[in-house]
Amino acid sequence: LICIKAAGASGWQDGVMKHDALSLALRDARVPRYTSYPPANRFTDKVGAPQAASWIARADVSAPLSLYLHVPFCRRLCWFCACRTQGTRTDAPIDRYLAHLRDEIALVADLLPPGARIGRLHLGGGTPTILSPDRIAALASWLRAAFTFAPDAEVSVEIDPCDCDAERLDALVALGLTRVSIGVQDFDVKVQEAIGRRQDVAATRAVVQDARERGVDSVNFDLVYGLPWQDAQSLSATLDTVLDLRPDRLALFGYAHVPWMARRQRVIPEAALPGPEARLALAALARERLLAAGYVAVGIDHFARPEDALAQAAAAGTLRRNFQGYTADDAETLIGLGPSAISSFRQGIAQNASATGDWQDRIAEGGLATARGHVLSPMDRLAGTIIERLMCDGAVDLAAVAAGQGADPGELARRAERALADLPGVGALEGAVLRANGTAGVRLLAACFDPGYEPGATQYSQAS
Ligand code: SF4
Repeated sequence: LICIKAAGASGWQDGVMKHDALSLALRDARVPRYTSYPPANRFTDKVGAPQAASWIARADVSAPLSLYLHVPFCRRLCWFCACRTQGTRTDAPIDRYLAHLRDEIALVADLLPPGARIGRLHLGGGTPTILSPDRIAALASWLRAAFTFAPDAEVSVEIDPCDCDAERLDALVALGLTRVSIGVQDFDVKVQEAIGRRQDVAATRAVVQDARERGVDSVNFDLVYGLPWQDAQSLSATLDTVLDLRPDRLALFGYAHVPWMARRQRVIPEAALPGPEARLALAALARERLLAAGYVAVGIDHFARPEDALAQAAAAGTLRRNFQGYTADDAETLIGLGPSAISSFRQGIAQNASATGDWQDRIAEGGLATARGHVLSPMDRLAGTIIERLMCDGAVDLAAVAAGQGADPGELARRAERALADLPGVGALEGAVLRANGTAGVRLLAACFDPGYEPGATQYSQAS
């Protein structure tokens, strides 16, 4: 789930830097999380459906493309979550959404050049498993009819264990399921009650077991630290259970309390939230337990078994970061389907209308539902490359980036020196390699190379 509940875990994977003091000192700095560049709050309505259609029609199909499909519904609305979703007890809105999704799938498939193949499909939300097995089967038939899937295509799905059963998993396996991503957050009952999300261990264990029995060999967990009432003891107990379930990869997000943006969070008791020092201690505890259990750190907030594709991409320096977070996916073109879904092209970024009704209206008019986006300039590409390498590797070779982008290496080095002088302790320049110090260092240095960054803007989450 890519939403503002995440603020980033503490620490960088080399384990060399002492970053806690820096993280505390910089805890009030607010910077983007850079799951994309530029961040979505900078998209404008200068990009619309005609522009997105031309980008789809000119997609490079010599390599597989990726699809993201957003399901904007949940049976329950967890208070901590700021994802783009809406609660529904009935299936009528879901069927309306599916009817329009079918049209959007056909529209996009018609626009793609001949020879396009899909290498990855991710179903996110919201709760994709809110779809009944027959609805999943219908969706699979539309996708398979419209697109050619590569034989080794990856299909991943975000799963709510409280809203998933064996029949749904069977339908997803028939679609080609290769990875399940399960929101765990925390197994402590008091924490779960405070965030409005009850999820017992048995339901989570059952989904993991059922998926593995069906040949799904990749399981991802999302954990969250910094939640109300969470302490070292409760988090340790959660980690005991998590490690017993042996996920292949984990995301460790820091809860970002932003009730002015996510109204549901107003129900969360602020007095029960851990303070900054306690947050860092919780992040460090989780990190130490995961590393001790044999996971390797990936980027600023992920962990994976050494044999996992994400860990291998990190080790090889080929890790990428897109709207879904860290990925080994190197596809140039990512097409988003459904309300609020974001597409990424060589030329720019396009985002669908966010409200489900608006998205449906646009699709019903016969065009794409693009409402906003951004045309990438050479400066955007330069900033985006530097920021992505910092977020993925904790370091960036400024000379190599300059050579690849036709930029002035001296200017990049001077900008790095200015950033290091303004923010002592944030990192170091070793020859042409700018190395960040911990998660806070990564995000702050990334912001220094972002020409559109506005210090102090409240829409961003804390750097640490
Ligand atoms: S079920 Fe998932 S997407 Fe829906 S509100 Fe809860 S955490 Fe957010």
